[in-house]
Amino acid sequence: MNECLFCKIVAGKIPSDKVAQTDTLFAFNDIDPKAPVHILIIPKKHIESALELGREDRELMGDMLLLANEIAKEKGIDKTGFRIVTNIGADGGQAVFHIHFHLLGGRSLGWPPG
Ligand code: AMP
Ligand code: ZN
Repeated sequence: MNECLFCKIVAGKIPSDKVAQTDTLFAFNDIDPKAPVHILIIPKKHIESALELGREDRELMGDMLLLANEIAKEKGIDKTGFRIVTNIGADGGQAVFHIHFHLLGGRSLGWPPG
């Protein structure tokens, strides 16, 4: 998807603060962090949101969760706890329509979210 912001980040056309990369995934610091650790984990493949996932994406989604855990350990928030969030659609608060996991931690996170 040419016009997609996160596709442009994956392609290196827009700079990002990279945290990790695999063959299929990319992780980078959120530009407007909501917690001391706020990292976005995205597939390199364009998928609009969790609602658009197909059965062929099952391994990819598992890998996204495993990468989130790995990064949480690297950042030292695995012991204190953290949150993995994916927003879907307007009421879900989705602003960028390329599926992403927010990895949030480093402070106590309120519940329920706003
Ligand atoms: P969402 O509201 O779930 O779609 O989240 C989109 C996230 O992308 C927000 O937390 C933004 O701060 C973040 N974001 C937007 N543009 C950039 C960018 N160029 N680099 C890093 N993060 C970004
Ligand atoms: Zn995209």
